[in-house]
Amino acid sequence: MTELPLPDPTPSGPSGQARLDALRSNLTVVEQRIAAACAAAGRSRDDITLVVVTKTYPASDTRLLSALGVTDVAENRDQDAAPKAAECRDLPLLWHFVGQLQTNKVRSVLKYADRVHSIDRLRLVSALSNEVLKTERPVLGCLVQVALEGDPVATRGGAVPDDVPALADALASAPGLRLDGVMAVAPLSGPYAGDPRRAFDRLVEISSLLRRAHPAATMVSAGMSGDLEEAVAAGATHVRVGTAVLGVRPPLG
Ligand SMILES: *Cc1c(COP(=O)(O)O)cnc(C)c1O
Repeated sequence: MTELPLPDPTPSGPSGQARLDALRSNLTVVEQRIAAACAAAGRSRDDITLVVVTKTYPASDTRLLSALGVTDVAENRDQDAAPKAAECRDLPLLWHFVGQLQTNKVRSVLKYADRVHSIDRLRLVSALSNEVLKTERPVLGCLVQVALEGDPVATRGGAVPDDVPALADALASAPGLRLDGVMAVAPLSGPYAGDPRRAFDRLVEISSLLRRAHPAATMVSAGMSGDLEEAVAAGATHVRVGTAVLGVRPPLG
């Protein structure tokens, strides 16, 4: 992480400075973890993008993160994300949407999201494509979210592996959408529970199969605060880190 001379980016006084210092030091630790994981895996640090998950935290934090050099942020609930993204419109950030997406939220999400990581059904593909075509916005980058629970009932979003090829083909041919890759969350149940490394290895295997038909779909979004090392070891290109940068989230109301 480059140390920037910071021109007091916050109007909110001393607490703003304290928050800035906390975020800077957390980012440094996360950056060291990513660098160590890359070194251990023989990978280049440049092959991995840190996406900071800012959900539940205020727009002022997103602003500080941008000042500290963060380029990519993620949100998982449109109600929270839409006003925050509007407040941060002037910042050079890429916005990732990583939460379960209802079709009635598609129009709103398309106002700020550069990428959606959580495509898990055909209905969402058509809804997104139709809405993108009604706007002036650029093409939307899309990832297929893969459910690795092995039990569709236990799944917290995501398509079962057998459904991934059809979903990927639909995304790749949908006007206004671009197939960028795959995403997963380490499962809490099923054969990979408690073993994020094996779960992410499986995701990377699914990604390799997908790239035979769609060579440009190179993104593998995997790894969070607790398992980013396993994700980097398996071959992730994007890690999504919230808690380790921003702190433990207050429970959702
Ligand atoms: C919240 C969230 C993250 C970040 O999780 P942390 O454990 O706070 O790092 C990553 N991915 C998704 C899909 C999330 O909802």
